[in-house]
Amino acid sequence: MTETSLPVLELDPLFKGTTIRPGDPEYDTARAVYNGSIDKQPALVLRPTGVADVADAVNYARDARLPLTVRCGGHAVAGTSANEAGVLLDLSSLKGTEVNPSRGTAIAQGGVLWGEYDRDTTLRGVATPGGRVTTTGVGGFTLGGGYGWLSPKYGLTCDNLVGADVVTADGRLVHVSETEHPDLLWALRGAGANFGVVVNYELRVHPIPPLLLAGMLVLPNDEHAHEAARAYRDALERAPEEVVAAIVTVLAPPADFVPPEVVGSPVLALVVAYVGPPEEALEALAPFRAIAEGGMDLVQPMPYAAFQAMLDGFAPKGWLNYHRGLHLQGLSDVTVDRFLEVGAEIHSPMTQGIVFRHGGAVARIPEDSAAASHRDAAYMAHPIACWATPEETDDEMGWVSRFTDAFAADRTGGVYLNFEPGTSPADVHAGFSPEKYARLAALKATWDPGNLFRSNHNIEPAG
Ligand SMILES: Cc1cc2nc3c(=O)[nH]c(=O)nc-3n(C[C@H](O)[C@H](O)[C@H](O)COP(=O)(O)OP(=O)(O)OC[C@H]3O[C@@H](n4cnc5c(N)ncnc54)[C@H](O)[C@@H]3O)c2cc1C
Repeated sequence: MTETSLPVLELDPLFKGTTIRPGDPEYDTARAVYNGSIDKQPALVLRPTGVADVADAVNYARDARLPLTVRCGGHAVAGTSANEAGVLLDLSSLKGTEVNPSRGTAIAQGGVLWGEYDRDTTLRGVATPGGRVTTTGVGGFTLGGGYGWLSPKYGLTCDNLVGADVVTADGRLVHVSETEHPDLLWALRGAGANFGVVVNYELRVHPIPPLLLAGMLVLPNDEHAHEAARAYRDALERAPEEVVAAIVTVLAPPADFVPPEVVGSPVLALVVAYVGPPEEALEALAPFRAIAEGGMDLVQPMPYAAFQAMLDGFAPKGWLNYHRGLHLQGLSDVTVDRFLEVGAEIHSPMTQGIVFRHGGAVARIPEDSAAASHRDAAYMAHPIACWATPEETDDEMGWVSRFTDAFAADRTGGVYLNFEPGTSPADVHAGFSPEKYARLAALKATWDPGNLFRSNHNIEPAG
């Protein structure tokens, strides 16, 4: 669709933001998302300067009957923040963060990224569980649940969402909190992209020490790795919830700390940190360091924000991506072995096979407090296929399929939609318990009966 084929209907003349159309110099940059597999051409990109501009954009798209897509960080691997022939509402112009430690919260505007949020909050000695890559948006991440390094201690990001300002499908600005429209707050906690444009998030913050003992333990992914990976699992299951970790298979990167002869070979890495006083950390992480003895021990004191940025090098914008987020009831020996075997088949330098441990606060927070589902999962398997050229696509997709099969014995059937590439009704149902899906569909019928907000893992309005 070209500019001339847009409906005659005009944007409100008071709209103060930026408009970008096909042919404008900025157009290709403005439409691009993180996942290079997604190539969509919106008819109009709108960058608002504030809430009134957001309401104008919503009213315009609705009345013109154009598809409307909201974007924060653009990281959705499913491509739900890209738009074909409609209106792309790009919130990247809304960057304010206001930290209020005495209230115990921080307010982030709709376009803030995790690196920006962490920068502002850690300056005040506080943090919220957030994205493990600094360029991920606070928006899509929080609205889809949000599982960060701090989650075993402080819950999902959406569990920390205490309030929000939302422009709804009818163009109204609504404030939600535990006392104002609490049902809508419940829905925003895990299914939030379905209910309006969130322009402000109020998130609970928690004290974070100036330095954390954190980093990576790296061993070759060879015949000895099986014993080490099982030992990591056992040690993690005994560890306090302050120990946050992921077991990862990847190719050793060409980094300063990697001997040249090891670069490009399959390795087993434990990314680990202790969320608490450094004087407790040495003892808590000692069992993990003992398992990795003889390998590379990159655990050291570092600021939380540096730990948050540690994996940025594995997330190049524009590479092709395909991820999954599979909940597991446990991690059996046979699954550990299959995980390592498939990990040894990785070809792309950016592809990673990850297992996160759930539990702690994520499991403790009552299931009915948020739309986010499947809190009882013990682990999450997270294959990240990330490759440079279309010629590699079949191999990489095949790898994700084998990775998924490797976990068959331990899967619960539930998935984490923020990592899921599929958006079919069946895909979306797998993200929620049936009761929660029904409650969400009823709320959708109240707040967005025309399904204006459908560029997401979509909840269809009931009836
Ligand atoms: C490199 C990388 C690292 C990641 N790390 C993690 C991780 O550690 N933990 C984790 O849980 N997930 C992680 N994810 C997944 C991430 O949570 C999702 O991709 C999430 O959707 C990203 O949010 P975003 O704002 O960048 O996405 P976007 O693509 O901008 O948005 C995602 C969805 O939310 C909607 N949306 C965005 N903002 C708003 C708003 N203000 N109002 C209404 N709807 C909105 C969009 O329309 C879209 O449907 C990662 C993804 C990538 C690519």
